[in-house]
Amino acid sequence: MQTQALEVLQKVFGYEQFRGRQAEIVAQVAGGGDALVLMPTGGGKSLCFQIPALLRPGCAVVISPLIALMQDQVEGLHQLGIAAAFLNSTLDAHAAREVEQSYMRGELKLLYVAPERLLTPRFLALLEHTPASLFAIDEAHCVSQWGHDFRPEYIGLSLLHERFPSVPRIALTATADAATRREIVTRLALENAAQFVSSFDRPNIRYRIIEKDNARKQLLAFIEREHHGDAGIVYCLSRKRVEETAAFLSANGITALPYHAGIAAEIKAGNQTRFLREDGIVMVATIAFGMGIDKPDVRFVAHIDLPKSLEGYYQETGRAGRDGLPSNAWLAYGLNDVMQLKEMIESGGSPDAQKQVERDKLNAMLGLAETVACRRQVILGYFGENAVPCGNCDNCLVPPTTWDATDAARKALSCVFRTGQRFGAGHVIDVLLGKTTEKVKQHFHHTVTTFGIGKELPEAGWRSVLRQLLAAGFLQTDTEFGGLQLTPAARPLLKGEMQLRLRGLPEKQRDKTDRDKK
Ligand code: ADP
Ligand code: ZN
Repeated sequence: MQTQALEVLQKVFGYEQFRGRQAEIVAQVAGGGDALVLMPTGGGKSLCFQIPALLRPGCAVVISPLIALMQDQVEGLHQLGIAAAFLNSTLDAHAAREVEQSYMRGELKLLYVAPERLLTPRFLALLEHTPASLFAIDEAHCVSQWGHDFRPEYIGLSLLHERFPSVPRIALTATADAATRREIVTRLALENAAQFVSSFDRPNIRYRIIEKDNARKQLLAFIEREHHGDAGIVYCLSRKRVEETAAFLSANGITALPYHAGIAAEIKAGNQTRFLREDGIVMVATIAFGMGIDKPDVRFVAHIDLPKSLEGYYQETGRAGRDGLPSNAWLAYGLNDVMQLKEMIESGGSPDAQKQVERDKLNAMLGLAETVACRRQVILGYFGENAVPCGNCDNCLVPPTTWDATDAARKALSCVFRTGQRFGAGHVIDVLLGKTTEKVKQHFHHTVTTFGIGKELPEAGWRSVLRQLLAAGFLQTDTEFGGLQLTPAARPLLKGEMQLRLRGLPEKQRDKTDRDKK
């Protein structure tokens, strides 16, 4: 089997040798076993089911959530002379019937189907009549209800195991935190599958997370300074931000195109095609953009809003530098991001259990954003890998300074307390700085004991303190007004029972030192 697999790799696909754990995975699935494959984007997941499909008698059924991806893969296989087809909503009834018939006549080696199609009585009957040689479940994290790519139809795929227990299954994903992994295993009944976890490290990507003051300007400066004429992706949280940012970059001489779910399908497709075919296009997008996009020379991925989870962030940044050349992952984030995302979770309609999952995911992302340790170490640690400091992230290149913020934190926390725990950061800072604004007067906050006790720090300094207190869980946003509140964790700090160190160096200095180092 091993030599046969290698022969197929070389003769059919034209590659010299297997990469990473591909050979083991191919052997497992070709031999009839189940497998769960966790490999980063660009790691070479497709061959893990394509080669077993060629080695086993019959036709493999590949479940894929993305029509565009299916078509690309089938086209690629045709070019290699492999009999492959897809069944999805783009085919009319006649064309679909022809595909079904060639499947039954045994003329195909790979058949790609959308999950909703697979679960129809018609398709299941087809599978009863002509069993598949294997099932490949691509983008298996779509089964995770807590993930941002959740597809309800994926839940139904557990039926494959019940109806066709003797057909081997291989599930593949590039999203692999422990919780998602467990969910894939239980929902797809893969308890007995061999797990193949590749390293998720992308050593050519340099991670950098900066403090936001004016995200768009900072982004423009970053692109102009480091990525003149390069292809890149800029992720934003909302459609409005996408439109505004694309317009802003365009007005500043950068070829930037918007992409989000609210844009008409033809325009979206047109923008995507330009991004793939032309050089140096910057795609400004929501997370709706990217899954299945295989463009090797994306030189940077920028986030101007904080992602909701570390796995989302990692998957998005993973679209940079698939060709292995140096690339940047750049994120600007600030106090408002933390406030906004926390509030979105608390005021969202999710059941409590899901809210807790959302909080945990956001906290992991915040932990990455606030860490003074190597970013890569934190990321890989989240995926269960041990790593040494990488030397290729901002924190490794310019170790952040920290300062004893015990006193400042106590001032900030008591000011939140004295003003009644229902005001946003701006107001709390005004009180700390002793500003007699209308709002301050209206609430008699010029008379509280914390009025004007924080003049030693500028406004930006207090924003940074509040952000870090919020990120570290000493503060929370209240569900009703979105104001800042103390958490139980704040007590020991307020009572002088603990010390606190926070990240210091203001961003401007940091950017400068970074540049000096180049
Ligand atoms: P993924 O689905 O994991 O994102 P792909 O299957 O699309 O990755 O593979 C990424 C790229 O790597 C493709 O261009 C593929 O042809 C190439 N590739 C995969 N395996 C090998 C290999 N063993 N040798 C050389 N190139 C490979
Ligand atoms: Zn590092």
